[in-house]
Amino acid sequence: MQADDRAIVEQITAGSGPVQRRALAKAITLLESTRPDHRARADEVLDALLPASGKSFRIGLSGVPGVGKSTFVESLGLFLIARGHRVAVLAVDPSSSLSGGSILGDKTRMERLAAEPCAYIRPSPSGGTLGGVAEKTREAMVACEAAGHDIVIVETVGVGQSEVAVAGMTDLFVLMQLPNAGDELQAIKRGVMELADLVVVNKADLDPAAAIRAQSQIASALRSYGSAGHADRDASGALAWTPPVLCASALDGTGLDDFWGEATRYRELANAGGGLDRRRHRQDQAWMWERIESGLRERFRDHPAVREALPAVSGEVRAGRTAASVAARRLLDLFH
Ligand code: GDP
Repeated sequence: MQADDRAIVEQITAGSGPVQRRALAKAITLLESTRPDHRARADEVLDALLPASGKSFRIGLSGVPGVGKSTFVESLGLFLIARGHRVAVLAVDPSSSLSGGSILGDKTRMERLAAEPCAYIRPSPSGGTLGGVAEKTREAMVACEAAGHDIVIVETVGVGQSEVAVAGMTDLFVLMQLPNAGDELQAIKRGVMELADLVVVNKADLDPAAAIRAQSQIASALRSYGSAGHADRDASGALAWTPPVLCASALDGTGLDDFWGEATRYRELANAGGGLDRRRHRQDQAWMWERIESGLRERFRDHPAVREALPAVSGEVRAGRTAASVAARRLLDLFH
C-alpha cells in the first residue's frame, strides 16, 4: 500500500477531529473514483479498513421527494448526537445514476447537523449504474464505521429500485409517508411497503387527525400483506416482528423518542442469538453475487469475439432462424 494511503487508513482508524474527517473524505473520494489505478488503491484501503468496520447500527430511510427525509435525518441526527452517538449520513440516489444530477445531493441540506463534529454527511456519488452507486455507498459505509460512526443512516429517494438496494445494505429499513395515505398508498408498490421494518407518517403537525387515519390505514395494509420487513427475508425466520407505524413531525422533532425506542427494540430483537450478523453475512454474499453478475455482463459485452458476432447472431434471432437459447449458448461459447 502507498505510504499516503496507509496514512489515510491510520488517520481514519486512530485519528480524531478534523484530521480524521479529512482522511475519511479522501478515502471515500478514492473509493468513488472510476480510474483503474485508483480502484486498485481503493481496494487495498477498503480491505485495510474492513476489520475496524461493522460495529454500527445501519438504518435505511426512503420516501418520495418532499416527504421530509432530510428534515427527519437532521432532527434524528441531532437527537442521537445529544445522546452520545456519532452519526454518518450517506445517500443512494437513483437520479444521480441516471443523469449525473442528484435529487438528494444537490441542495444544501442538514446545515445544523453538518456543523456537528460528531456527524459526517456525504452526498450520493453520481454517475454509473444504480448498482455502482449503491456499491460506492456500501464502501463509504465501511469507511464511516472504521472512523467510529456508530449510527449510519443511508437515505434514498423512493422512486425506484434503490429501496431494494438500501434495504439490502441496512439492518433497519424505514419508509417515510405523508399523512394523505389513502392516495399515497396507491402510489407505493406493495413490494416497497413490504421492505419496511418501520413506517413513519411525517408532517403529523399539519393535520394530526389525517396522520392518525394514515397510520391506521398503513398498519392495516401491512397486516393484510402479512408484512414483516427484513424478518421476512431472514432464513432463520426467528424474528417475530410486525412493522410499527409511527406518527412524527420532523420539523418539530416530535415522535423521535418513539422512533428511537422502536428502532432500538428492533435492533435488540434482531440481534438476539447473532441474527443481525447472520443477516449481514447473507447481505454480503448476495451483494457479492450481484456485483459478479453485473461485472460478468459488462465483460461479456466488451469481449472482442462477442462484440463481433453479436449483431449477426441477434439478427438471426430476430429473423426467426435461430432460437434465442441457441444464440445465447453460441455467444457464451465465444466468451473465454
Ligand atoms: P425530502 O425531499 O424528503 O428530503 O424532504 P425535505 O426534508 O427537504 O422536506 C420538504 C419540505 O417539507 C421542507 O420544506 C420541510 O421544511 C418540510 N417538512 C419536513 N418535515 C416536516 C414536518 O414534519 N412538518 C412540516 N410541517 N413540514 C415538514
